[in-house]
Amino acid sequence: MARSGVTDGFHLVIDALKLNGLETIYGVAGIPITDLARLAQAEGLRYVGFRHEQSAGNAAAIAGFLTRKPGICLTVSAPGFLNGMVALANATVNGFPMIQISGSSDRAIVDLQQGDYEELDQMNAARPYAKAAYRVNRPQDIGVGVVRAIHAALSGRPGGVYLDLPAGVLSATLDTAAAEQSLMKAIDPAPRHIPSPESIQRAIEVLAAAERPLIILGKGAAYAQADESVRAWIETTRIPYLPMSMAKGLLPDNHPQSASAARSFVFGQADVVMLIGARLNWLLAHGKGSQWSPAAKFVQIDIAPTEIDSNRPIAAPIVGDIGSALSCLLEANQLGRVEPRAAWLDAVAARKRQNLERMRANLEANAAAMNFYGALRVIRGVIAERPDIYVVNEGANTLDFGRNIVDMYAPRKRLDSGTWGVMGIGMGYAIGAATVSGKPVLAIEGDSAFGFSGMEIETICRYRLPIVIAVFNNGGIYRGDEVNRGGGSDPAPTVLMGNARYDKLIEAFGGAGYHVTDPASFQTALTDALASGKPALINCAIDPAAGTESGHIQNLNPKSSLSRQD
Ligand code: ADP
Ligand code: MG
Repeated sequence: MARSGVTDGFHLVIDALKLNGLETIYGVAGIPITDLARLAQAEGLRYVGFRHEQSAGNAAAIAGFLTRKPGICLTVSAPGFLNGMVALANATVNGFPMIQISGSSDRAIVDLQQGDYEELDQMNAARPYAKAAYRVNRPQDIGVGVVRAIHAALSGRPGGVYLDLPAGVLSATLDTAAAEQSLMKAIDPAPRHIPSPESIQRAIEVLAAAERPLIILGKGAAYAQADESVRAWIETTRIPYLPMSMAKGLLPDNHPQSASAARSFVFGQADVVMLIGARLNWLLAHGKGSQWSPAAKFVQIDIAPTEIDSNRPIAAPIVGDIGSALSCLLEANQLGRVEPRAAWLDAVAARKRQNLERMRANLEANAAAMNFYGALRVIRGVIAERPDIYVVNEGANTLDFGRNIVDMYAPRKRLDSGTWGVMGIGMGYAIGAATVSGKPVLAIEGDSAFGFSGMEIETICRYRLPIVIAVFNNGGIYRGDEVNRGGGSDPAPTVLMGNARYDKLIEAFGGAGYHVTDPASFQTALTDALASGKPALINCAIDPAAGTESGHIQNLNPKSSLSRQD
């Protein structure tokens, strides 16, 4: 609270956040929230100031994923608000809890469209992209606005919530006693959700009848922080499992039951597939198509009841939180009824050996110019020795190769493009992860992907965060050797500057820049950069011919059948 006797909206927002244990704000200062950021810092909250709201929002979202508390993003009105919305929408799509708090202009003028400074009906603009959107119109409602946002962000499937604070509400004053009365603390905003006993029994029956069962772990399982139950369920049932990208490391990727190296084989062969916090969306080909056995039955644990049957029929839905659901399943399976056939385990193991052998050969091949294998081999080795390092990964080929090549050994250490397959999350996620953990972060970035949030290297240097950025510079989107089909001197649409020295950018802010052209010098630079614990950027020159268009998702890229040359 501010002065005795009277307080204002600014102080009430800070008090409400503090009361609810929300102690970090990611934002960009400006009208009308500059004083909010300033006072928050004065009152002991951590304020991390960015160069662009989208990165601030991405930092808040990933902080929410890592901590199970909504990350707070603070934006200015209209354009700042809209910049942040990209991150809020991405958080909602991914199921990350986040609250975007934005200042807004005078409603009386906005609603009559009389042309206010940064005029926009922000709450209604936010609504379709957010899990919920609220506006506080009176200072005495700030407390309730904040707890409603917290409940909405954390309950059920988490998501992004928008909270609108008009400038007038922030500066409005209120009697201290009334203000104190108005504050609320959210109790148990993400309650356990114990599934029905029938749903557990049904799932056990389906799994016990399986000959070739498979478990798919999604980032919902990572979010749930039920790591011990996940491990116990997988190890007692002995079912082969596949982690989706952000579930990598829930069990170490070198676990004998991991079927990652036999991915297509297990999709095609499994007769029962158990989804644990993973959606049957495009990332799993909707459970359909040539990859999947049409006869397979599905078991699905999810906290969102409406996720069930969204793509394929689910024979045994378990609606509940993953920790509770797995405890119930472990209890119900004490007699060990769920047990895969030995022939299945042998077949998976054989396919795995074969594919791992091929991967090893690719990794060991020393191409004349450094390619994705050569560069990622270095990172693979570093993470095997330093499993505590967070890995942020975005790009096209950089993402696809990175996901497959870099094994993870600890939960929630891999943060990537996620459900949308989006570019632009890199620096925001890296800053969010470093801020909440204090641990080193390695951001593996395609050169195009890096460009979307690259200016945040100033933020990284300003806050002296232990972040090392490896820019995989193949000079373009997908690859760097495309030619202008019209024959003109403009570069082709996918081409970027292959000779760009991204390492020089970070030097401008006092960080360490490295330029490497082969795996050996990359190894030296990376080791050096991580040992320093300081901000660094390594420009990794990658063969411009090394990538493929759209990486592993070429099927999603429509092509003209009429093009003159291909
Ligand atoms: P991935 O992309 O890794 O496959 P998704 O984001 O598609 O993961 O799916 C995550 C799923 O996990 C969502 O359907 C979400 O509702 C669910 N989920 C999130 N948190 C929990 C939880 N604590 N318990 C159960 N399900 C959860
Ligand atoms: Mg590129």
